[in-house]
Amino acid sequence: MSSVAAAVPAAILARAEAAYLGLALGDALGATVEFMTPREIACQFGVHREMVGGGWLKLRRGQVTDDTTMSLALGEAILGNRGRVEPLACARAFDGWMRGKPPDIGNTVRRNLVLFRRTACPEAPPSEHDAGNGAAMRVLPVALATFGWPEAEVRAACRAQAHVTHNNEVSDAACEFLAVAVQDFLRGDPLRRILRRRIGPLLSVYPQFSFRKRVRCANPSGWVVETMQAVLQALLDNGGFEDCVVDVVNRGGDADTTGAIAGMLCGALYGREALPARWLKVLDPAVREACIVQARKLLVRDGK
Ligand code: MG
Ligand code: MG
Repeated sequence: MSSVAAAVPAAILARAEAAYLGLALGDALGATVEFMTPREIACQFGVHREMVGGGWLKLRRGQVTDDTTMSLALGEAILGNRGRVEPLACARAFDGWMRGKPPDIGNTVRRNLVLFRRTACPEAPPSEHDAGNGAAMRVLPVALATFGWPEAEVRAACRAQAHVTHNNEVSDAACEFLAVAVQDFLRGDPLRRILRRRIGPLLSVYPQFSFRKRVRCANPSGWVVETMQAVLQALLDNGGFEDCVVDVVNRGGDADTTGAIAGMLCGALYGREALPARWLKVLDPAVREACIVQARKLLVRDGK
């Protein structure tokens, strides 16, 4: 672990907060239309762009799902471990989160946390089938805690948290891409430069992530490849936070997770001012506060 300057510029802190709030906003907006098709969404909402709650989970307005609450649990584990991303601490945090009976939980997450309870081993067995988006959706606290670290250490920390439930190289590739992209955005790098620098290397090893098709990615499943394709397409097709998040959740499918990941990236890219005030107003107040506090604590830690 390397050290970074103790003083983090205010602009970077603000973008980190926006990334965490963006994750929660995208999750809460998308959850309303999770598992719906674009046609069903259009019939019911026209364009779904307001925080109304509901959905298959029957959520309150502004309520978030596992994407945000697992991220917060992971962030607490990192903070409780002096900023280190330690598999056993992560596994205990996720297990504690599952004991709280969250409204939704992914199949891979559940299966491998049940296995952890049985074996006490915090690393899931490698599986070519565990390429769901459940590790990628919660990677933000790692990106914040490792900001300023050498890239190889950032990537290792991503895998440490991911492998508790998803020990899969395609999932790893997505987690690592998202973490380094968030860090690039926090530094203020523009979108096009990040995409040039990060997408090429990703696609050269994992061409399945290619999203430059003329066909609009609709109904993205929980497979991390489809999730990433929809998010990256929406990121490139839109020039602001709200437009991007609205675009991606209206594609339906795993909309809370595409919304959460797009919201995280767009928050880091476009900053606090870009977050729609009317969405922030109805976001669960405890979650809103936790996102702000945790973003700051993860980024500015003594001894980091
Ligand atoms: Mg969810
Ligand atoms: Mg989901």
